[in-house]
Amino acid sequence: MYPYKEMELVVLFLTDMQELDNAEIVEITMVSGKKFQKLQGYTYGSTVRLKSSMRYRCTQGCGVYLYKSFDGHLMDPVPVHNHPPPRLYLTSSGHYMALR
Ligand SMILES: [Zn+2]
Repeated sequence: MYPYKEMELVVLFLTDMQELDNAEIVEITMVSGKKFQKLQGYTYGSTVRLKSSMRYRCTQGCGVYLYKSFDGHLMDPVPVHNHPPPRLYLTSSGHYMALR
């Protein structure tokens, strides 16, 4: 019989790995209906389509931009923000809320 406890641990481990390996940009939908890009806890909006990438601005107004290729990859290193990431909450409907 497979020990139930161990299965739980495996699930947690996989979740943690996904969180740590989050050099991947994820599109999230806020409770307001706005779509943001999320990378390493920071959120980006104000979408601008450029010639070879999409540009998003930090939603907390620090002036940091995120450049994403059309196939969803990070194009350039993101500068360091001068503030901590927003406190994001996932609601049961699958939307995100940011608390300041
Ligand atoms: Zn910022």
